[in-house]
Amino acid sequence: MKALKFGGTSVANAQNIKLVLNIVLHQAKQDKLVVVVSALSKVTDLLQLAATKAAAKDESYKEIVAEIEKKHLDTLKELIPVSQQSSLLSHIKRIINHLETLLDGCFLLGELSRRTSDTILSFGELLSSYIIAEALKQNLKNSSYKDSRELIKTNSNFGKAAVNFELTNQNITEFFASDDSQVVVMPGFIASTLDGITTTLGRGGSDYTAAIIAGALHASDLEIWTDVNGMYTANPKIVKQARPIASISYQEAMELSHFGAKVLFPPTIQPVLRKNIPIHIKNTFEPEAIGTCISNNVFHHTNPVKGISHIDNITLITLEGSGMIGVSGSSKRLFEVLSQENINVIFITQASSEHSICIGILNTDADLAENAINKAFEIEILQNKIDSCIVEKNLCIAALVGENMKNHQGLSGKMFSTLGKNNVNIRAIAQGASERNISVVINERDVKKALNSLHERFFEDNTKQLNLFVMGVGNVGEKFIEQINQQKKFLKDNLKINLRVIALSNSRKMHFDEDGIDLKSWQSALENSEEANKELFIEKVKKLNLRNSIFVDITANETVSRTYEHYLRENVAVVTCNKIACSSAYDNYKNLKNLSRKFNAPFLFETNVGAGLPIIDTVKNLVASGDKVNKIQAVLSGSLNFIFNNFDERSSFHDVVKEAGVQGFTEPDPKIDLSGIDVARKILILIRESGYQMEIEEIENKSFLPAACMDTSNNEDFFKSLIEHKSHFEGILAEAKEKDSRLKFVAQFENGKASVDLQFIPKDHPFYNLEGKDNIVLFYTDRYVDQPLLIKGAGAGAAVTASGIFADVIRIGNV
Ligand code: ADP
Ligand code: ASP
Ligand code: MG
Repeated sequence: MKALKFGGTSVANAQNIKLVLNIVLHQAKQDKLVVVVSALSKVTDLLQLAATKAAAKDESYKEIVAEIEKKHLDTLKELIPVSQQSSLLSHIKRIINHLETLLDGCFLLGELSRRTSDTILSFGELLSSYIIAEALKQNLKNSSYKDSRELIKTNSNFGKAAVNFELTNQNITEFFASDDSQVVVMPGFIASTLDGITTTLGRGGSDYTAAIIAGALHASDLEIWTDVNGMYTANPKIVKQARPIASISYQEAMELSHFGAKVLFPPTIQPVLRKNIPIHIKNTFEPEAIGTCISNNVFHHTNPVKGISHIDNITLITLEGSGMIGVSGSSKRLFEVLSQENINVIFITQASSEHSICIGILNTDADLAENAINKAFEIEILQNKIDSCIVEKNLCIAALVGENMKNHQGLSGKMFSTLGKNNVNIRAIAQGASERNISVVINERDVKKALNSLHERFFEDNTKQLNLFVMGVGNVGEKFIEQINQQKKFLKDNLKINLRVIALSNSRKMHFDEDGIDLKSWQSALENSEEANKELFIEKVKKLNLRNSIFVDITANETVSRTYEHYLRENVAVVTCNKIACSSAYDNYKNLKNLSRKFNAPFLFETNVGAGLPIIDTVKNLVASGDKVNKIQAVLSGSLNFIFNNFDERSSFHDVVKEAGVQGFTEPDPKIDLSGIDVARKILILIRESGYQMEIEEIENKSFLPAACMDTSNNEDFFKSLIEHKSHFEGILAEAKEKDSRLKFVAQFENGKASVDLQFIPKDHPFYNLEGKDNIVLFYTDRYVDQPLLIKGAGAGAAVTASGIFADVIRIGNV
């Protein structure tokens, strides 16, 4: 004998019920079956809504009844041949009329008692079980229907009635002993008191009905057929990477379901546990999937953590005060009050000082609990021995569950560090003495991030998901996206990094996709998206609250650089090739670095100096290892280097600058390069990263541009001025020739002073042979005294800059 239970989605409509019938008919060939069914999907919610509306004198309950009626009539019509429909349709209509009469009563009285509510809610299962039993009869003559209320007897705790097992087991065994149908269909969720008043077993309680029957009949198996492939390592609706757990113990399953794994109604395990009846959780829509087996024969798994679950809508109530210390009975009184008010306590912690006790309950019980507790401790509160209780609503409990966790050290440490790294604030912690469960209370807004990062840490082979929010998709940005697209698989396979681009924005448009933008068609997605807005961009990043979020700035825009602070404060890392922030006022630079540390959000800007060359990282390592940078000499402008390497008698200065722009070696505004500002910013960043405090104004900038060129206010005028002052540039070139030297724009730092200027570099100098758009930096430090540490290579260009940004992103992934 087997007991099978089909949930709301499994019986949502005629099409799904046909799948259910297939499963039942197939199994009925081998076994006698009891088939327990839920109400059609959402019907119990609709009944609840109709009842509440009726009691609130809102006539729209009638529309809900009409909707419920239509749903059931439509389903029946599709399952039963027309010739046999009429009596069945009238039966359904009679049931609906009865329902409507009850709701009319609520409407007239303006009241809804718990007892009436249970009667109203029972209609969902009564209707569904009737239809399914009739549909089954069409295919299997030897099948019948039994109303669970005649067998399952409870007390009168309406809404969540407690089962009288002695009587219930006796009723069930007696009935089945005399029934010889191959399949008996029964409604789940509903039962009755000894006087025959309808009760319910609690929302989601159909699982329990099936377990009660299975337990009473010593069934060989209990099968819970639902809409997912078993009990998952986390709620699959919230954690996309969650996967079904093949085998799990009763205790673990109980713990997961108590802590929110809705796939199994928590009391379901009790009736089958003692009799050792295995529970199989199966998917109606994928019957061939193996699902989850809950039993005592669990094969040992290397991972001590079996699953992660969570409960929403939690309120923490803290009672504290000196009056609690050493006074026996405070906790007893607290729990007594809660029990009198029928409030279920989900979570308890008490500090060892006994100074405070903290409990977690459902939000819906919060006001009641607060009033009751404050009343119970009224005298102590008046005497200032205890404070009025502190109530914090809208929290959530997340729990790690696993039988074997007690034999492993460091799991809680891992759990807390994972949450900490993701800036998830833990409000309270509890670990059961059984060590089967470690639970934390966190803010509701952090739930998704917390569950996903815990899942990643404990179940995903250390694969780390990085979520990128990219602003700026010009030359460099485009290359960056191309590189991600190309390397995605490699990173996943080799570095265990799962890189996703969640948002892209240019100056006109912005596009978000929480599941990751398809990088093959990002251009059209961006084109067809909403208008760009930097503030809204920040809000959206905040709201998504994804783990390992990285804001990537590939613009040269000052306004964008002013937004970093907001990201860092939200624990969103910032990777940027935009130099403005790091070369702005020292206080601002320092503030960003401090925020990065405080909020555990990396702030990386390797591409600020030397594009993809590892210059900043090298300085960081020198400083971190205790070295001291005493002198820096560098050619840091790939653009100026390109320009002066190509400027000769055959080409005009103007044409060379134009060409550098075309090839993407200059800033969008070339004056920023030619005026030396760009180089000044770069050396400033190196100086700051070396540990010195300096402002941009302190860097001496001896510009080689005539004042008239400097004074232009747009690109067009600037280029015109280069033509007008042709002879000035030719003069510089002639002087270099005469001195048998080459022109290099050099940045220097020594003895606390810095300068940038165009220099005539003689043949024997390491800068003389600097080709194309290369950069070179010489660091003279305490350790590199005579021979400087030298870094040289391509210092400009879209591809190398993009790969430098890429490297920063990977650095974050490897932390
Ligand atoms: P039914 O109507 O079949 O009883 P439920 O909605 O009660 O189905 O339970 C199945 C749902 O439970 C799944 O669709 C899923 O959203 C949710 N769920 C929550 N946690 C888990 C988990 N750990 N494993 C599987 N499902 C879960
Ligand atoms: N129909 C009931 C509910 O929605 C019972 C169940 O589906 O298990 O809560
Ligand atoms: Mg359920």
